Amino acid sequence: MDKCSFCGRPKKEVDILIAGVSGHICNNCVEQAHLILNEEIAKPSKFDKTHKKILKPKEMKEMLDQYVIGQDNAKKVISVAVYNHYKRISQKVQSDEVEIEKSNIILVGETGTGKTLLARTIAKMLRVPFTIVDATVFTEAGYVGEDIESILTRLLQAADYDTVAAERGIVFIDEIDKIARKGDNPSITRDVSGEGVQQGLLKLLEGSVVNVPPQGGRKHPDQKMIPVDTKNILFICGGAFDGIDRKIAQRMNTKMVGFDASKNRELVESENLLQYIAPQDLKSFGLIPELIGRLPVLTYLNPLDKKTLRLILTEPKNSIIKQYTSLFKYDNINLTIENEVFDYIVEKAIEFKLGARGLRSICEMIMVDAMFEMPSKNQKSFEITIEYAKSKLEKSKMKKLEMAS
Ligand code: ADP
Repeated sequence: MDKCSFCGRPKKEVDILIAGVSGHICNNCVEQAHLILNEEIAKPSKFDKTHKKILKPKEMKEMLDQYVIGQDNAKKVISVAVYNHYKRISQKVQSDEVEIEKSNIILVGETGTGKTLLARTIAKMLRVPFTIVDATVFTEAGYVGEDIESILTRLLQAADYDTVAAERGIVFIDEIDKIARKGDNPSITRDVSGEGVQQGLLKLLEGSVVNVPPQGGRKHPDQKMIPVDTKNILFICGGAFDGIDRKIAQRMNTKMVGFDASKNRELVESENLLQYIAPQDLKSFGLIPELIGRLPVLTYLNPLDKKTLRLILTEPKNSIIKQYTSLFKYDNINLTIENEVFDYIVEKAIEFKLGARGLRSICEMIMVDAMFEMPSKNQKSFEITIEYAKSKLEKSKMKKLEMAS
């Protein structure tokens, strides 16, 4: 007897039974399915795929200010680049119109100065998929390591496999300086791992349709691939480029010969040299010109001084201290911290050369005992005094930190 393959009701219990190739569906199940479809279609995507309400560069910078301390120049340059990028995506190019080129970004600055944070904040603000990859794990096809396509696998995963969203996402490639060619002369010191990966990145950065293994891993012939167009993916590369200041100084000093060299040299040396960074310095460092050409927006991040570190501790919207305060609040404990403690944490972070990243680990060491004990006590408030902070930090893992620094 014919029955619905979905609900199992026999023909006589339903109004209509539609026959398929190897089964049936009743009118009730068709209606149910229709409702489900409508709900799914109406569900708002967690990603923005239209970019209709893109913030203006100034507004974008103001948003960044809430999360990232200082780095005004980088914020400004990035805001403009990102604004232009999404304007370009929404542009319907007519044949006679000027086509706007893609503006991938490269950020140069010491580790822990906020490069990743900037990229992550931008992606969050724009509600686009975001992923971070480390350039050092990639290799040319045929060598041990990950294929460059796996960058896109990760982006797809971050986009819940929504290809349209992924194709408008942001990829942060960290440690781009580690794949620099060693030496400036390609014919003598051609090193495979670095230059090969740079070459591999070219087509990704520029825009092309890449077949991506959805689960990552190495390609094999019968794996189903997802084609991903990278034309509208924004790539932000970051690197510390250790020693690039010498290249900048060299370039500037040679250029200045013949002018008022001595005076200019003093001026240049007294300031943070990174602010003068230019594409040719990246070339001297070992990035190939083709790669530099595909990263047209170049900006720098300043090293973090004491004042900035102190602000990072308390000022950002989700600052470390605000996070601890709300953790304690969950247990109805009002956490207060003496002002002196903040300065102490900053001093220790500088002493151990841990930058902003160290602020967190130092705080953790000071707080861990309290976070362990307090939830079981009936206390409604807790104050961290300078004496308390010092005693916790000095007795705890100081040795470990000292060894690591
Ligand atoms: P990078 O990518 O430059 O190595 P990150 O962006 O990962 O550094 O920064 C490490 C941590 O330090 C971040 O989690 C962030 O909390 C903090 N941090 C670094 N720079 C800043 C900054 N300018 N403003 C606020 N927080 C910062």
